Amino acid sequence: MRDLMNDAAMRAMTYLAGVDERHVGPTDAAIARLSALEYSLPDGPTDPQAVIAELDDHADALTAVGNPRFFGFVIGATLPAALAASWLANAWDQNAGLYTISPLTATLEVVALRWLVDALGLPSETGAGFVTGATMANFTALCAARHAVLERAGWDVERDGMFGAPAVTVIVGAEAHPTLFKSLGLAGFGRGRVVRVPVDNQGRMRADAFPDITGPTIVCLQAGNVNTGAFDPAAQIIPRAHAAGAWVHVDGAFGLWAAASPKYRHLMAGYAEGDSWATDAHKYLNTPYDSGLAFVRDAATLRAAMAITAAYLPTSEHREPSDFTPELSRRARGVEVWAALRSLGRSGIAELVDRTCQCAQQFAEGMRHAGFAVINEVVLNQVLVQFGTPEQTRAIIAAIQADGTLWAGPTIWQGQTAMRISISSWKTTAADIDRAIAVTLRIAQTQMGTA
Ligand SMILES: *Cc1c(COP(=O)(O)O)cnc(C)c1O
Repeated sequence: MRDLMNDAAMRAMTYLAGVDERHVGPTDAAIARLSALEYSLPDGPTDPQAVIAELDDHADALTAVGNPRFFGFVIGATLPAALAASWLANAWDQNAGLYTISPLTATLEVVALRWLVDALGLPSETGAGFVTGATMANFTALCAARHAVLERAGWDVERDGMFGAPAVTVIVGAEAHPTLFKSLGLAGFGRGRVVRVPVDNQGRMRADAFPDITGPTIVCLQAGNVNTGAFDPAAQIIPRAHAAGAWVHVDGAFGLWAAASPKYRHLMAGYAEGDSWATDAHKYLNTPYDSGLAFVRDAATLRAAMAITAAYLPTSEHREPSDFTPELSRRARGVEVWAALRSLGRSGIAELVDRTCQCAQQFAEGMRHAGFAVINEVVLNQVLVQFGTPEQTRAIIAAIQADGTLWAGPTIWQGQTAMRISISSWKTTAADIDRAIAVTLRIAQTQMGTA
């Protein structure tokens, strides 16, 4: 056992030691070699060390997410303390769903929740479920919202379901994240049965176009558009929604973390007045996959939607983790969240947000200076760059990915093709941005014949 674990740890260390300089995306050759894995189930056992060696042999068919110049999809890296905690937690093999089985991990969730609420400026009474990601966090919070608005309309949705229930109006911004519609569908609201509020050119809901509200209503705001980084005008919309009795949910998969920085907190103005918030830990907090958080101001409402029994009284004096999540049995992802927060502290979280946003400004400046169009207002950590025509932009992105010094992907923002840069890694520094700018400009200028 010790030899096997040491071998795996050494392999992991070798990977991590080289990750800053490896080709960021998977190479075609590495992907082609994956066919070697496609054999049928072995008849008998294999030595565990050989299993690990075979696995490690294919590590070049990964994307080097831990490379400081990986800028795709708002995917954060993993903080050293969070990764090490994850190794320990995996060895402990805890079922984090029940206090009785795992008092330590259950306690870490309570402590991490208190720290999160503090760092993110949420109401102190807020409860939370530790889930897999923002898709499930949105789903979980929407189930709490569903409970609350239907209970006020005299309907017990956990008992009687959605058939015959009073109609609930769901209001979203026209640039809500695609996964929000999936979460709405899973919660029984329908992906298409929504009122879409028109947005401005940054994807912000237009407060002047916000509809009048009647009857049971859930309003879904977005803190951080996945393309532009823009925030809906919460301070204008939440008071209106609340005056009409609506529940306000916030999808803040990465944007919620702006609240942890005194410099960027202004973007989150008014958001703490919401009723529920979803965020990811595996994006901006840089914990390992998978890790998301569903926050609900009234913890009892989240519990009413998620507890296995309809009895709303606690079964012990302790917070029972599974009372707040869709799952019963699950891994102890709260350990990593705790370790990340413990290692960063308040100033470390703020520094992470500030540095990555500063890096985004630096990259945008480098592009503008070379005459390329940055098509979003760089308010947080997202940058959208255009290199001439859509065809030229796509070709340059492909060439950048093939070069492997950095990784960024294409997106289409309100009809315009662009390269999207998301900076959310604890490792990214100004020097990485200088290198990324140099490579991007060399490739773009060569491709466009302006070098
Ligand atoms: C990434 C993202 C999601 C989905 O998060 P997952 O963790 O991938 O489930 C939802 N909303 C927004 C705004 C996002 O950026």
